[in-house]
Amino acid sequence: MNRRIVVVGSLNADLTIYCERLPLPGETVHGNGFAVNPGGKSANQAVAASKLGGTVSLIGAVGNDSNGDMLLASTERAGVDVSRVRRSADVATGVAVIAVDANGENNIIISAGANGTLAPADVSADAFDDAAVLCLCLEVSLETVEAAAKTAHDAGATVLLNLSPYAEIPQSLAALSDVLLVNAHEASMFLGDAEMPHPGAHASAWEPVRGQFAERGLHRVLVTLGSHGSVVLDSLAASGEQISRIAPTKVNAVDTTGAGDAFTGAVAARLAVGETLAEAAAFASVAAALATTKKGTQAAYPGAEEVLEHLR
Ligand code: ATP
Repeated sequence: MNRRIVVVGSLNADLTIYCERLPLPGETVHGNGFAVNPGGKSANQAVAASKLGGTVSLIGAVGNDSNGDMLLASTERAGVDVSRVRRSADVATGVAVIAVDANGENNIIISAGANGTLAPADVSADAFDDAAVLCLCLEVSLETVEAAAKTAHDAGATVLLNLSPYAEIPQSLAALSDVLLVNAHEASMFLGDAEMPHPGAHASAWEPVRGQFAERGLHRVLVTLGSHGSVVLDSLAASGEQISRIAPTKVNAVDTTGAGDAFTGAVAARLAVGETLAEAAAFASVAAALATTKKGTQAAYPGAEEVLEHLR
């Protein structure tokens, strides 16, 4: 059975300044701390899946600079195969410049850098030879995302698309997406500003949303709801099992940054070993909750043992 997870997308250096309050336009404020950490949605998702026991390959691009070195080292340390992360000779590694205020509110500017050079030619068919799952987000060009989805689909892999950061996608890409993973805000935008149920609402309140996704050709959708857990909308499941509400895992959250990426990586890891969408979401719910109990993103992601311990 194929078990490899291929993640195609972004690697960014997260440059974070902590400050009392965020600056207004034209204003300068003093920071009270600075950190450089590995990030980028795809690198985070790859690390999350690998730490949970997945066999993971990452396809991406970084520059020939110290941020690129840091990102390759952190993903490799987590066990990710980075042999297909291309080093661009003339474009710098992508960066996210993040300001975080005393209330945890943030402003983020992303410069795609080398991520912007990732092209359909980088996703050759042999990368998907033994792939069970392809994991995609929207931090690289739609053209590349669609080429990867098409190649993986043709190779028989399950295509998991995390519609983040939100962008409109062509119907051709939606049709190639076996599983769509969105937060409530992204779900609403995808459905043309549709009203979402209250995040704490019972499963039945999600029936109209399931119907709207199905009308657009999206039959299996996971909606994450932060501290309220998540909901699985599976129009292909037997009737009566099409909506599963995944209860939140109660934890003492100290930093929710990257929880969505931990969730996505965990879903990919569990789909790759043959779990159903609802089973994968239940596992991911624990993995993502545990990721919020420590500061940071990749370094905070749990291992499989830690999650299984929690599930016992
Ligand atoms: P981000 O962009 O910050 O990574 P997101 O909007 O993509 O987040 P969320 O819905 O906030 O994703 O979180 C993803 C999942 O992480 C949730 O479905 C839930 O399982 C878990 N999670 C997030 N915050 C908490 C929390 N405070 N307590 C428990 N679980 C949480």
